[in-house]
Amino acid sequence: MIGLEVHAQLATRTKLFCGCAVTAGEPPNSRVCPVCLGLPGALPVLNGGAVDLAVLSALALGCDVHPASVFARKNYFYPDLPKGYQISQHDQPLAVGGLLEWTERGEARRVRIERLHLEEDAGKSLHEGFPGVSGFTGLDFNRSGIPLVEIVTRPDLRSPADAAAFFERLREVLVEVGATQGNMEEGHVRCDANVSLRPDGTARLGTPVEVKNLNSFRYLERALEHEVARQAALLDAGVEVERETRSWDLRAGRTVVMRGKEEAHDYRFFREPDLPPLRVGPERVASLGRRLPELPEARRRRLAAAFGLPDDQARQVGGDRAATAYFEAAVRAGVAPRQAANWITGEIARLLKEGRLSIEAAPVPPGALARLVAQVEAGTISLGVARGVFDRMWRTGGEAEAIVAREGLGRVDDEARLEGIVREVVRANPKAVAQFRAGKPLVLGFFVGQVMKATGGKADPGLVNRLLARELEQA
Ligand code: ZN
Ligand code: MN
Repeated sequence: MIGLEVHAQLATRTKLFCGCAVTAGEPPNSRVCPVCLGLPGALPVLNGGAVDLAVLSALALGCDVHPASVFARKNYFYPDLPKGYQISQHDQPLAVGGLLEWTERGEARRVRIERLHLEEDAGKSLHEGFPGVSGFTGLDFNRSGIPLVEIVTRPDLRSPADAAAFFERLREVLVEVGATQGNMEEGHVRCDANVSLRPDGTARLGTPVEVKNLNSFRYLERALEHEVARQAALLDAGVEVERETRSWDLRAGRTVVMRGKEEAHDYRFFREPDLPPLRVGPERVASLGRRLPELPEARRRRLAAAFGLPDDQARQVGGDRAATAYFEAAVRAGVAPRQAANWITGEIARLLKEGRLSIEAAPVPPGALARLVAQVEAGTISLGVARGVFDRMWRTGGEAEAIVAREGLGRVDDEARLEGIVREVVRANPKAVAQFRAGKPLVLGFFVGQVMKATGGKADPGLVNRLLARELEQA
């Protein structure tokens, strides 16, 4: 059984309890003040924007938002935590309950959300790469006090792949509502996993082990696979699983012990005396609710139902609001839905990846794609030629029709011209003609191939067949 705790950095301009800017890549300790450094006497002031983003996240997950929640101090010592405590929420969190549902390979998946609360991030210990310091650990407090939302699931996940899929879907929802930028490389979304095994035929759940700080879907899956195998081997050998906190050692490809597992009472939680209870009234919840966009899973279902897209294409297109907008614009411009999806998940996805672009920045707008596809529909060019033209449009701009005309890419259906080519091909291959006469009709395919080659694949195949048959009869 697997349960996750996901931390997502909220996309605010400033920190949770002070006016310091939230930025990345600034020199260490350049975005700090007495509040986020925890200097004596400095008082926190709550960032209302962070509350809105946390409430939006809660609503997107169908959580109940409490009209009043309470901030609490979570006390522990660590060099990157100058106050000696983290301001978080404990027994009265912002929101509880909720559900994330999605479809995985045609199967309905649902994971219950236990709670969602606001808290501040800690600073960063830089063991290397701290300017001017080598052989020491440097502390950067730029991250200290950045707003986070923590989302805790019920233990509803049953496999490492399941957990990774949930993590990915959850990130997608949080990005969709604008709660987080969701940049994995920047560590905007991180995950801790609790894993416990239940030996076959027993009702008793094994000791849970926590694996901390997994910042990619793949690492989460691999760390859990390793951890499940490790615990299974211990149980098979009759050894008790220790209750502990482990971390994923990427290089070694295994989890390693960090420390014995602390329990809630170890943190000596108590109410934050410097902040009043957080009140979120029903009007504020309602007005934030109206800001909720269509969520990725709903969009996927809509694309599958309304346009008959297969699951994988509905997921790929519907997972991205901008890709959906492109798709819908192409369909409005006359492209058949399945074709529009083929272009988006094929050529367009490839070129976007190559250019490291997002689809909003695609150099070929949906209308131009529609005019290209119209040329295929009209039989002016083949699909293969269309792909080449699209590539040209993408790289150098220009309209499909102009490129086809300028480069003579249109299908050769000029009968007189084709006849000349056919005659030429037949004359140049007397041996094949003899074989054809000897009753080997398969040789016809060879001739068709030669004519297609001579026309750069642009000849109308039906016409070529007809002309060849006539020419070979007469030859
Ligand atoms: Zn500050
Ligand atoms: Mn936390």
